[in-house]
Amino acid sequence: MPESQLVDIKNLTQEELIEFLSGLGKERFRASQIMRWIYGRDVCSFDAMTDLAKALRQELQQRATVSSLQPEAVEESSDGTRKYLFRLDDGQSVETVRIPMEAGRATLCISTQVGCAMGCSFCHTGSFGLVRNLTTAEIVNQVCAARRDGPIQNIVLMGMGEPLDNLENVIKALKIFYLPEGLDFSPRKVTLSTAGLIPQMLDLGRRIKINLAVSLNATTDEVRDRLMPINRRYPLKELMAACRAYPLAPRQKVTFEYILIRDVNDSDQDAKRLVGLLHGIRAKINLIPYNEHPGSPLKAPTARRIEAFQTYLLSRDMIAIRRASKGQDISAACGQLKGKLDGTKSK
Ligand code: SF4
Repeated sequence: MPESQLVDIKNLTQEELIEFLSGLGKERFRASQIMRWIYGRDVCSFDAMTDLAKALRQELQQRATVSSLQPEAVEESSDGTRKYLFRLDDGQSVETVRIPMEAGRATLCISTQVGCAMGCSFCHTGSFGLVRNLTTAEIVNQVCAARRDGPIQNIVLMGMGEPLDNLENVIKALKIFYLPEGLDFSPRKVTLSTAGLIPQMLDLGRRIKINLAVSLNATTDEVRDRLMPINRRYPLKELMAACRAYPLAPRQKVTFEYILIRDVNDSDQDAKRLVGLLHGIRAKINLIPYNEHPGSPLKAPTARRIEAFQTYLLSRDMIAIRRASKGQDISAACGQLKGKLDGTKSK
């Protein structure tokens, strides 16, 4: 069979693998066996799966494959943040960032698309436009590859792309993340960040457990329309109503990402409006000082403004965490490593 017609097992959920195997007349428990080899032991060759009968291994070899990604480039910053650039089969590339946390823990930020259609003005990836969705295997393989450098405790779908614009492949990847025979992550350890695609957001909440993060970044439609064109389709009032409707487990909160940009969204009035917008939502706010990059007119906020903004939120009993901008010396903002290595220029 030509290689392009082989089924990539990493594109299959457990149910789909069971179905594939039943087409070959094989028992369903073989699916768990195969998945344990692939995800538990990082084995990509059917030949090495020694608890499968030789005939089954040969049959799998003829009909299926197990893909894998190796980083083409890795950059490590002084704070230990590591950026991987992965080259995909069609020559496209994506990046994944490993962020060290306290007590030797690590969070992995993964991509879900090549480029992005959302066009947010503060984002380098947005300036490339959307090239294509990643497959389930390409999403899963970012985690498999980064795990070779040490264990990962949290996954955030916050890299290149709008995850909800690739909902079906993302949900399949999440099923593989959560499966004990798969990557075995608790849904509590996985967070998806969206620019605010409301119908898909509500669909996600109905279909699978996950922490939700909303990239908010403005407190008026006028400013958000400018920063995030998606706001023209789904304005703030509707977005906040959808966040109120999102199903949360007890003690779970919706995270709101707020990139502070000098003289754009960092005023005292913004802080006040933000409190009003989030009224009635179990919320946590991540304040992220804008990371300046060449080609963008937007500026980082002053240390004083960041302080004042956070202090106001805390005084109103909000949970407002200032996120350290990690990996500043290695092109930390999303899309910048890709831009550098591919020679792509920002608009
Ligand atoms: Fe896309 Fe996220 Fe960048 Fe917006 S911030 S353009 S949603 S990758």
